[in-house]
Amino acid sequence: MENRQEILLTQFNEILSIRKPRTDDSIDGAYADLGIGIHKICKSTVCSREISETHRAIFCKGCGLRIVIPKEIDTYAKLNAWCQEQIAQQKKQEEFTSMVADWIKYLHRTTKDHETRISFFEMRAC
Ligand SMILES: [Zn+2]
Repeated sequence: MENRQEILLTQFNEILSIRKPRTDDSIDGAYADLGIGIHKICKSTVCSREISETHRAIFCKGCGLRIVIPKEIDTYAKLNAWCQEQIAQQKKQEEFTSMVADWIKYLHRTTKDHETRISFFEMRAC
């Protein structure tokens, strides 16, 4: 729909559908009761609420989607930027974890080869 805009919320492709031109509008205050948009997949209202001195939660009334964000993230533009940053960090984290796993596998293999070589030489020494 051309009069709507989408914000990708998570790495699981959860999308907040918002009415244009609300990108720079506050997600605080008046919009909190009405909802800040629609959760695209379940078509339920997504709300925003303070949960502590430092954080607020974005939550879907339909499916229970809940994202905790810093309180400074108070406009749609900031929310969009923050979510993209989180998704990018998550990707980096996954790449790093997979790299470490590969490295451990490699180490394990070389250690085994090393052990095999040692026992071979031990055998020859006998
Ligand atoms: Zn939902």
